[in-house]
Formats: sequence, structure tokens, C-alpha cells
Amino acid sequence: MTNDAQRILIVEDDKPLRTTLAATFKAEGYAVWEAGSVTSARDRLNETSADLVVLDLGLPDQDGMTLLAERRAIGDLTPIIVLTARNDEASKVQALDAGADDYVTKPFGVAELLARMRSALRHGVQIRGVEPVVRVDDLEIDLAQRTVQRGGARVKLSRKEFDLLAELAQHAGKPVPHERLLEAVWGSPDADIRYLRVYVGQVRERIGDDAQAPRLIIAEPGFGYRLG
Ligand code: CA
Repeated sequence: MTNDAQRILIVEDDKPLRTTLAATFKAEGYAVWEAGSVTSARDRLNETSADLVVLDLGLPDQDGMTLLAERRAIGDLTPIIVLTARNDEASKVQALDAGADDYVTKPFGVAELLARMRSALRHGVQIRGVEPVVRVDDLEIDLAQRTVQRGGARVKLSRKEFDLLAELAQHAGKPVPHERLLEAVWGSPDADIRYLRVYVGQVRERIGDDAQAPRLIIAEPGFGYRLG
């Protein structure tokens, strides 16, 4: 089970914004580092790796693009989300070409940034190709290979069914809100919750969980679902 907090490095020179983001990320359960310049971000990344970098482009010492290009040049595949006030197509394309995983244009909603972060972190797990394999009882979910086994036997899931189980697995043992599950599987927290109930039923059936007395996917009434 991977319960270790994922580490986010925020590189942003606007102190009030950085402080707000740091508090928000911590409340979401992430471990947070802050840097106000390219130099301090570089020092931090050379010291120890992050799981995700949120990178402002307009920084006092150098352009954030410099750091982005540098990390990719040395083969660092840590997901990087660029924050930019530059609402022009060219700089977004430039950032993506330089290896950014995503970008968010200021001003942005925190919910949007968090959604992009979750997506980039999932993608980061995939591109790094390392496990992580989540185990709950005799259920084994390989997030990188997108495979599931129960008692050593392969369980076949559709893409959406796997996405649902993977989102639960990434927070195994903790309740995951309906909205987060809807967003992970259907791309919007406002998707119809009835879809979710149907899919939870399907996943339970596929993994052999008893719908009347589930032991693997547990409903948290009025909130969401929990794996294990
Ligand atoms: Ca700035």
C-alpha cells in the first residue's frame, strides 16, 4: 500500500499565492516544498526528487522555462505543471514542447489545478513504469501495468472500471469523495452519481466482492467509497 504523501515542489515568487497553494496542497494530503526562484528550485531538486513540480514561468532570477528544459535535458521525468500568466498560444506550445506535462493559466481555480495535478501524478506513475502495486487482502492492483489480480487470478476490467478501481487504490484505506471518483473516471466532478453506483457494482462483481456485504469496496454514505 502506498500511503506515503506525494511530494510537490511549488516554484512561485508571488509569496501570497505560493502560501495559499502550499496550504491547499497540504490540506489535500501532499507534502509540500516551496521555492521562490529558479536557483532555489534547482538546489532543491538536485538534493532530492519531487513527485510533481508546479512551476511559475515569470521568476526573478531566470525564466521557469530554463528550469523545465534543464530537468528534461538531464532525463528527469518528474511531472511539471506550468503556471503562466501568458495567455498566448505560443508560450503554452513552447512549454509543452519543452516537456511540461500540462499548463494552467493565471488566474486559475484551485480545483482546476488540483485536478490537473492528480492527472499529471497518475501520468507520472505510468511513464516512470515503476510499480506501485497496491494490495488489499488478496486483491492486487498494478497501477503502472493497469492489471488486476485476485488470489493470483487475472481479473478483466474495462477501461473505466479500472480507472475507478485505480483511483480508489491510490488512496487505499481512505475514503475517496464521489466528486473525485467522478472526475477520475468521467472527467468531471459533476458527472451523474448514478453512473458511479453502476460502475462500483460492476467492479465489485468482477473482483468477486459481495454486493450485500462488501469487504473490498466499502461505501461511505454521503461521501464516497473506500478500498479496503
Ligand atoms: Ca511570477
